[in-house]
Amino acid sequence: MELSNLLSKTEFAHEELAFLLSLKGEERQALWKKAAEVKNAVVGSNVYFRGLVEFSNICSKDCLYCGIRKSNEKVVRYKATDDEILDSCRFAWENRFGSVVLQSGELSSPAFVKRVDNLLKKIKQLSNNELGITLSCGEQTLETYRRWFESGAHRYLLRIEASNRELYYKIHPDTPAHSFEKRVEALQFLRETGYQVGTGVMIGLPFQTLDDLAGDLLFFKKMDIDMCGMGPYIEHEHTPLFAHRYFLQTKQERFELALNMIAALRLLMPDINIAAATALEAIDPNGRKKALKVGANIIMPNLTPCDYRKEYFLYEDKPVLLENSVESLNELKSNIIDVGFEIGKGEWGDSKHFRHRK
Ligand code: SAM
Ligand code: SF4
Repeated sequence: MELSNLLSKTEFAHEELAFLLSLKGEERQALWKKAAEVKNAVVGSNVYFRGLVEFSNICSKDCLYCGIRKSNEKVVRYKATDDEILDSCRFAWENRFGSVVLQSGELSSPAFVKRVDNLLKKIKQLSNNELGITLSCGEQTLETYRRWFESGAHRYLLRIEASNRELYYKIHPDTPAHSFEKRVEALQFLRETGYQVGTGVMIGLPFQTLDDLAGDLLFFKKMDIDMCGMGPYIEHEHTPLFAHRYFLQTKQERFELALNMIAALRLLMPDINIAAATALEAIDPNGRKKALKVGANIIMPNLTPCDYRKEYFLYEDKPVLLENSVESLNELKSNIIDVGFEIGKGEWGDSKHFRHRK
């Protein structure tokens, strides 16, 4: 396969994507360079900030990879107060982030649904309706998705985690709590409700192959997603998947493969929003900046109230950066400007793909 011909294509077959993902050395640099060009030409040089508020680590699910899964008894469970959450959102608004992401473990009790609903209304109020809101609170009913949409959420992140059904069940074996079909249906519910829909996968999972990852990229295309957040899988000592750590690629290999995924996705879906995932920085302190250079255009600074951060410990070496201090935020911004990008100020930074579809 001639690489220069492949890089100028706009449609890709499964084996072509697997080939792109396998690139190393100079060929990999060519892929990254092309993805950067496509990004600049299609979505421009703006980087949009979403303030990430991890407002609770209480979860009803038992995903085999996740540090806050319900069976991990070592976790100190928390639920931030409304005031703490609103303070983080106010910080985002005052610093002209444009939008926030509210993320939590998955619960579906009426009390949880109502609480999120009330928070949405309060966030809209405190920002004169200006702050955009993304939710990432797992699988919910169509009715709940609609209720939250009507109260002000307009984007939703729900990773498929692995689009190969067999691999999905290897990392989520307990049925019926986990159902691949229900996960896909939830993504369809979100689309039907009117959200900008984001999904993603973990990269470098045990049992995962390049063919699986190429399939993930085609799954994103088939689902016609608006946003993607994907990053390396990183082990956590107190999870069942830790037992498979000897079969993993090195962290550096997973990191570089994650950059290949971002770059290949930028070629495949040029006008979507792609996040530079926090997990990249568990491997490389400049991980997010490197992701921006190969096709990502979204950064999610962590605005979780500081006391809770160490309890939202999804995987080892998760950074506990103090990005809600003005100094560290300014440092992050100047790092981004140094590598040639601009910061989108106060705008929601909607996915162009979403706007084109409408
Ligand atoms: N509970 C919601 C859900 O699962 O959609 C949102 C919170 S969940 C902690 C957010 C994401 O963390 C998941 O979609 C998963 O991909 C990621 N995650 C969990 N454990 C991880 C690990 N060990 N390595 C990398 N990412 C992980
Ligand atoms: Fe819960 Fe989400 Fe972690 Fe799964 S990934 S255990 S749903 S917080």
